[in-house]
Amino acid sequence: MATALPAFDIERTLAQLTLEEKASLLTGHDYWNTPAINRDGVHVPTIMVSDGPHGVRKQKVAGGEANLTDSWPATCFPTAASLGSSWNPELVTRVGEALGRESRAFGLTVLLGPGANIKRDPRCGRNFEYLSEDPVLSGDLAAALINGIQSQGVGASLKHFAANNQESDRMRVDAQIDERTLREIYLASFERAIKASNPWTVMCSYNKINGAYSAENHWLLTEVLRDQWGWDGLVMSDWGAVHDRPVAVAAGLDLEMPGTRGRSIALVVNAVRDGSLDESLVDIAARRVLALIAKSGATADAANAPAGLTADAVTGTTTPVDHAAHHALAREAAAAGAVLLRNEPVGPGATPLLPLAGPQGVAVIGEFARTPRYQGAGSSQVTPTQLTSALDAFADAWGAPVPFAPGFALAEGPSTDVPAEALRDEAVALAATATTVVVFLGLPAVAESEGYDRTHIALPADQLALLDAIARVNDRIVVVLANGSAVTVSEWQHHAPAILEAWLSGQAGGAGIVDILTGAVSPSGRLAETIPVRLEDVPAFNNFPGELSTVRYGEGIFVGYRHYDKRDAAVAYPFGFGLGYTTFAIDHVGAEVKVVGEDNHLTVTARVTNTGSRAGTEVVQVYIGDPGSRVVRPVRELKGFVRVALEPGESRTVTVELDSRALAFWHPTLHRWAIEPGVFTVEVGTSSRDIAAHVDIAVDGDDLTTPLDFMSTVGELRAHPVTRAEMKPIFVQFDASMLSMIDDFPLGLFMHFGIMPEVLPENITRMIESTQE
Ligand code: BGC
Repeated sequence: MATALPAFDIERTLAQLTLEEKASLLTGHDYWNTPAINRDGVHVPTIMVSDGPHGVRKQKVAGGEANLTDSWPATCFPTAASLGSSWNPELVTRVGEALGRESRAFGLTVLLGPGANIKRDPRCGRNFEYLSEDPVLSGDLAAALINGIQSQGVGASLKHFAANNQESDRMRVDAQIDERTLREIYLASFERAIKASNPWTVMCSYNKINGAYSAENHWLLTEVLRDQWGWDGLVMSDWGAVHDRPVAVAAGLDLEMPGTRGRSIALVVNAVRDGSLDESLVDIAARRVLALIAKSGATADAANAPAGLTADAVTGTTTPVDHAAHHALAREAAAAGAVLLRNEPVGPGATPLLPLAGPQGVAVIGEFARTPRYQGAGSSQVTPTQLTSALDAFADAWGAPVPFAPGFALAEGPSTDVPAEALRDEAVALAATATTVVVFLGLPAVAESEGYDRTHIALPADQLALLDAIARVNDRIVVVLANGSAVTVSEWQHHAPAILEAWLSGQAGGAGIVDILTGAVSPSGRLAETIPVRLEDVPAFNNFPGELSTVRYGEGIFVGYRHYDKRDAAVAYPFGFGLGYTTFAIDHVGAEVKVVGEDNHLTVTARVTNTGSRAGTEVVQVYIGDPGSRVVRPVRELKGFVRVALEPGESRTVTVELDSRALAFWHPTLHRWAIEPGVFTVEVGTSSRDIAAHVDIAVDGDDLTTPLDFMSTVGELRAHPVTRAEMKPIFVQFDASMLSMIDDFPLGLFMHFGIMPEVLPENITRMIESTQE
């Protein structure tokens, strides 16, 4: 980091700039850089931004165009699908720090990530770049990454704000979402991350939300993001997401990326000149660009080395990076993000298949073991500094190569010219000689990517046929999965007594996976997304990816486990689930709520005991439900979690502190967060389906009585505290069935039915009016 910062006076610089210069700052100079201004006494240095969420993708030719493959080597950490499953903010922060160090070494001001979009549907091609189906988990882990990145003096760009939950038609689709769903699910993930980490920048999404492009959405970029959440960083566009630059400036979109070869400058200048855009709005955006430049230290770099720091011709970095240490961290993270779904014994009295006792009798099958699928395609694609396959890692762990057959070909692998049948026969022959077979299955690169969505969520048919054939000769099968988003397991898991879901686990994924398989590391990953039984069960099944440039979020707040739990529907593996090599018990669950000023402080405690014979880590999850609510609410929602590492026999009491927001819902007519008075359920467990114990807490809540008028129903008047007593005698004459009918009549209409006086008694009229004050 540069040391002696020269004074860079943002306000003085802004005052010196002409309208054209200010407008020029609001759009990139080229694909990755902002423009520099250098003239008599005014020096605004350029800054550079680059992808992406799990590794730096700095293009070798960093000028005017996209090049997804020719970038400098950088550590490819596990993708968000894997980091999300770690449920480990401390580890994710360390990954963020490493990303920040590499970004800094490359001379970047902003690393374009992380992504905090909610995994609405497993078909989304870019789910591997997103953390969870749950906003609390997604928000916490995004914040952890941002805090890590920014601790190194580099900014993060939290993306894609907002409601970019599919790749189909992503550049123009209109996401139609009700306000409550936006607030509780899709915005909540960003809000939580922003409040806990204050990212330097936010990147808007391509799509429209309820009719307005995110880039031109004043409600989203100014009212919600700035006025309501109190955030004061810079909003940049996704690449090419701006349609009307002056409107975007007015909406709060500060920096348009990439450059538009001067077009946008002219549009902004002309809009100011013709009076359609207030210059003060240009100043606001330019001030935020200058503030970002000042934060970056680029002003110091420019003063110290006006020609820019010289990058090494081999690494592309200006300062050395400890790549070995970062590879080791990528390995640790890959192991932490792998979720052990199943681990059964085969045969009476046997122990579970994992961990493997040693190399004896183990055979490895599946091209993925040799040609790892470790990251996704698109703008996040990193050129790794090295790549460890599972085969390399087995050889390393056991001192000799493990017997291997590819079983199937991958387009990116070496066996493409061998007939499929020959590959299968060879693998089955190997499996027949082995005691235990570890089969690496997954999605080929072409199956999921930025830019398009999947149409089904099954593994490829050739892999399933292979598994079937292997199962006929060997019943000790461990399946290791490589995929960026959930695949169905129900049609094949009876063949696999052990399943390890490793996601897209980065350049050291092979080593991280082998660490788990051999027991060098105990599995502690937990599902950040539900694995459904069938695609037809997923909440957005009928509403994904929409049609005619519109997608309706018809499932509302019932995303992921919120949907399955509400319907009590079967799932293959629930949200939050993951096995270890030991067992835990949770008891002594307690919850206490204290009202401090306007806030409810909730303290949840539980005792966790390692009841098995190996050390391990449990992830204790706290869910809250409001069964008596008058609005429809999920059965339970994750509100906090804590990891606890315990030796065999050890117990510890863990505490999770929550605030008012953990109890609140977004009130659709009051348009604010609200807490319903009543009894809430606090559940402590190890997945949304494994609740160890619950306690009920009574909460005073907010006064949610709404104003009455003549379109209020009879039922509302009979229930309202102001009119309740007065209404009672009028309605004693009706039986329950009649009342049920009348209760839905608006008062103003009901008065024409002759049961109530056409002119209301003055006291009732006064009461109704009093509720409106
Ligand atoms: C992607 C962003 C990425 C940008 C720059 C866009 O197409 O949606 O996530 O940061 O390109 O590569």
